[in-house]
Amino acid sequence: MAAYTDHLEHATIYHRGPDDSDESDGDGGLGNLSRLIVRPPGQSGKAKRGQLCFDAAYETGNLGRADHVTDLEYDLFLRPDTCRPRARFWYNFTVENVKQDQRVIFNIVNLGKEMTLYNTDMTPLVRSTSRQKWQRIPRRLIFYHRSLAHRGRKILSIAFAFDREEDVYQFTAAAPYSYSRCQRHLSVWEKKAQTFAKRESIAQTTQNRRVDLVTIGNFDVKENEPKDENAVKGKPLESKKRVIFIMARAHGGESASSFICQGFLDYMASSSEKAKALRNNIAIQVIPMLNPDGVFLGNQRSDLLGSDLNRCWNRTTTFAHPALVAIKEHLNKLYSEKGIQLDFIIDVHADISHEGVFVRGNTYDDVYRQVAC
Ligand SMILES: [Zn+2]
Repeated sequence: MAAYTDHLEHATIYHRGPDDSDESDGDGGLGNLSRLIVRPPGQSGKAKRGQLCFDAAYETGNLGRADHVTDLEYDLFLRPDTCRPRARFWYNFTVENVKQDQRVIFNIVNLGKEMTLYNTDMTPLVRSTSRQKWQRIPRRLIFYHRSLAHRGRKILSIAFAFDREEDVYQFTAAAPYSYSRCQRHLSVWEKKAQTFAKRESIAQTTQNRRVDLVTIGNFDVKENEPKDENAVKGKPLESKKRVIFIMARAHGGESASSFICQGFLDYMASSSEKAKALRNNIAIQVIPMLNPDGVFLGNQRSDLLGSDLNRCWNRTTTFAHPALVAIKEHLNKLYSEKGIQLDFIIDVHADISHEGVFVRGNTYDDVYRQVAC
């Protein structure tokens, strides 16, 4: 393997998404490749066309290493989550300085899990500067196999042909949804929804990003709200405001969770009669991005300090888990308010090994169980 850091003088610069912030350039995670030209052993000097340049040093980017195997084949190593070496699934990188009709095989050789949707129909996504719409690479060009050349590990091989020399190509596990995009969407959304919603930041992450809380509707109890039908005769229970709490994107690699959350917020701000009825009768609170640092850095599961935020609700500290601490305090406050009934807490994820839509949760004999934080 011979790889040298270089700067391509002639290559086009990757066209970033309109929602990604300028300051995210070159700052997308610790240990990502930053415009690395991967050459055959023993070669140096000015890069020739066809000597591929890999880059993942941008927001949500992830690629830690690229090895030249042959002119046709490259071994690619995902950059593990910060402070969590076993979490390796998300990838998002660009390739440029390609030759017209150049064919390659990219082997992703260090996926952290074997049982994934690559065993079924899932395939990586690709786009290029002249074709910005994401496309799935056809299944017949994807091989998820055990490789003797890689000590029997299960690797993901992608056969690909570059068809436009001037384009920068971007490969990713799923359509990215960055922290900047979330902020941009919320800024537009809050203006549209200002008559019935408010947005605030309830915590700052370790890297000083906002943890937004959006409240749709209000906590006022209406006079004519139906009384609880289980009320003892002559002693009606007081009306309570029903509240639903939704969180998304605890895990950086699960961008689908953010698309669902954005769709939900857009629906709630729409003129649909159902959305209006929900706004008028219940309060809905949403944390659109629980793990902004992990999302920004291109981590699969953890935040900056290696915490899996879905696994440490019961051992939070203000230093390591400011978002979780703020949310727990908030939920406890809601729960202790007499006029409020917290009906659901929904945590939206995506999954790398299960298809379709499903719900996971604890089961309790008492459906009106206490909310335990
Ligand atoms: Zn998850």
